[in-house]
Amino acid sequence: MKNTDIQIIAAIKQLLYNDKLNIAIVPHEHPDGDAIGSAIGLAEVLDSFGHKAQIVSPTDYPNFLKWFTAKTEITVFSRNNKLGKEILNQSDVLFCLDFNEVGRAGKMEKLLLDYTKPKILIDHHPYPTNFCDFIISETHYSSTAELIYDVLCKLGMKKYITKSAAEAFYTGILTDTGSFNHNTSDPNTFKVVSELMKFGIDTPKIQSGVYHNFSISRMQLLGYCLNQKMIVLPDFRTAYIAISKKELENYNFKTGDTEGFVNFPLSIENIVFSAIFIEKDGVIKVSFRSKGNFPVNHFSHDNFNGGGHLNAAGGETNITLEETISKFTQLLPAYKHQLLETVI
Ligand code: 5GP
Ligand code: MN
Repeated sequence: MKNTDIQIIAAIKQLLYNDKLNIAIVPHEHPDGDAIGSAIGLAEVLDSFGHKAQIVSPTDYPNFLKWFTAKTEITVFSRNNKLGKEILNQSDVLFCLDFNEVGRAGKMEKLLLDYTKPKILIDHHPYPTNFCDFIISETHYSSTAELIYDVLCKLGMKKYITKSAAEAFYTGILTDTGSFNHNTSDPNTFKVVSELMKFGIDTPKIQSGVYHNFSISRMQLLGYCLNQKMIVLPDFRTAYIAISKKELENYNFKTGDTEGFVNFPLSIENIVFSAIFIEKDGVIKVSFRSKGNFPVNHFSHDNFNGGGHLNAAGGETNITLEETISKFTQLLPAYKHQLLETVI
């Protein structure tokens, strides 16, 4: 932990060791494996320490993240905002996990801004904004889960980590590194994984739970996207997939079904930039992935109201799917030089 002041750790320690607390934990909207794994793992550890931790997720999360053995329940704010509000109102401390700007809490943004008790951010995204009282932002970490493990050790809470919590943290690291394919240049990631394995977690079971549980229609949707919908632009070393709501419905779409699809085009020889555009209710959700040093977080921030990491970013548009595609393709010439120069 290079950036976090020991004073911040000391202040959080004082807060958590002083009293038994009600603690609310909020991941980003449309949470991924890292956001959910971090939230579940942290809740479990705080509970075993003696606090009462509750997770409120701004929106629902995919089925492939619903097999955790931890007892902690997740309240989905978009389905039950009354209970979500109540949990925040009754809490003494709020943890915000795996996001760097308050807008990433979606419809919970105002609740987070209006929250008057201590707010703690633990995150690994670049360019953190200042919406919490205590900020633990370490952008060189593979995942928020890896970072939370180190924070817990610094807080003297390692002994409260349970097997279920270790499983949740491992899932966060596994998913944010694409099964240890990217974001793994720091040996600390493997050090933390080796520590987590000492809790007796079943890594093949986790791998299967996360990756080997496609519904038939999800697998067929992937086939359709790759076979019928993928456009490859070799001159820009770019490939993209755009998929309409109607097409998703044809494949019985469920939350999370398109997760990871954006990675596939990067397996094509010489492609360094991949995008997926997904039509949702009223917005187009965009995801970008890259290889080498092509910064998709900057691309997303500058053009698609988004952000993220160097090689994995996302954003949104309020224009139509067709308009989003033409905006994207019209932007490419301005980036052509950078794309051709990208070293892989
Ligand atoms: P994904 O493409 O898997 O949704 O997200 C990839 C990365 O980009 C994640 O780190 C995620 O937090 C970030 N990201 C995704 N969507 C958005 C967005 O709308 N705004 C911002 N600022 N970041 C996003
Ligand atoms: Mn993350």
